[in-house]
Amino acid sequence: MRMQAVSQENIRAFREAIQQSTRIAVVGHTHPDGDALGSCTALSLWLAGRGKAVSCIFPDTPADNLLFILSPDVKYVYFDADASAAEAAIRACDLIVQLDCNHFSRTEGLEPFLKASTARKILIDHHLNPDRESFDVVFSTPEISSASELLYWVLKAADGDFSTSPSAPLEMTEDLSCRAQSRHLMTIGTALMAGMTTDTNNFANSVFPSTFQMASELIAAGVNRDALLQQLYSSYRENRVRLMGYMQYEGLKVLPEGAAYMILTKDIMSRFDLREGESEGLVNVPLSIGAVKLSVLLKEDDGHFRVSVRSKKGTSAQQLAVRFFHGGGHENASGGKLFIGPDIANAQAAEAYVSNALKTFLG
Ligand code: 5GP
Ligand code: MN
Repeated sequence: MRMQAVSQENIRAFREAIQQSTRIAVVGHTHPDGDALGSCTALSLWLAGRGKAVSCIFPDTPADNLLFILSPDVKYVYFDADASAAEAAIRACDLIVQLDCNHFSRTEGLEPFLKASTARKILIDHHLNPDRESFDVVFSTPEISSASELLYWVLKAADGDFSTSPSAPLEMTEDLSCRAQSRHLMTIGTALMAGMTTDTNNFANSVFPSTFQMASELIAAGVNRDALLQQLYSSYRENRVRLMGYMQYEGLKVLPEGAAYMILTKDIMSRFDLREGESEGLVNVPLSIGAVKLSVLLKEDDGHFRVSVRSKKGTSAQQLAVRFFHGGGHENASGGKLFIGPDIANAQAAEAYVSNALKTFLG
């Protein structure tokens, strides 16, 4: 099987770019999610296996609950923890591969260094409206589950048997936690499966025939999906479950227009001792209400709110994010920001803004 987005010509250009480079920067987006971490880790492992010096660079340190996707065999650099190391890695490389983000701006603090770099650049992404002009080779299709899946088809086309990696697959221990932090346990296949699983919300959204085919092939190749699901969906702290309950009981606002929103303030996050990544999935919950076709979650940050938008088919989360929240993403899963100052006078004004935005959008 060959994905439409994976043309022979692109694969030739991909192979050639890799052959001709020695130091490669693999770059993912801000607040990396499972797909960013999975795809970047998988590509870094694959490149390292071909003798390349690889730096895997993210704007921010990943959330604790996703650290299991990292491989001890990959050199990670986080701009928020060590800006000069990230800058140096980008300056030193002769090839940049950006995954799971359609524009340099999604890498926030890395953007000026990526723009200034004269290295060859490859994009492997599944968001709408990629910035094609900034890259020499572009693999882009929104008709796929995830960047991890797209990378799977790219690697299959470039190197047929990559998933039979010598590393052992993710293993479950007797207490059901995964030994993923042990050496060699995160394989290319497991990292890709993790990225696809989180971006589809465990096969609930953006699933295509090719997605099941990838999953089927990876399971046949030895990826332990049970261990992965255990790690992704059954390893949370009690605080997170209580926060989810609280937000659904106290925080949920449902509008007659068919929209819902929730605002996760700093005060609530500190009351529940919430950590980065622990509100993952909350924005999807209101869509389980029959009458709700659009759901927005605002999460208070310094000087702004981070915005997550989800929609049912027929309603565009992406358009709402573009029009009201300086953002974008996918048709039914997008994000953006709401700035205190430019957009709203203070944090208390966020509720009126989001409620008006939803009414205007659906009205
Ligand atoms: P999430 O709600 O999970 O943070 O993000 C959902 C989708 O929206 C992801 O595909 C992500 O790339 C995109 N997204 C999130 N935040 C932003 C943003 O600030 N700007 C843009 N353009 N896209 C975003
Ligand atoms: Mn993605």
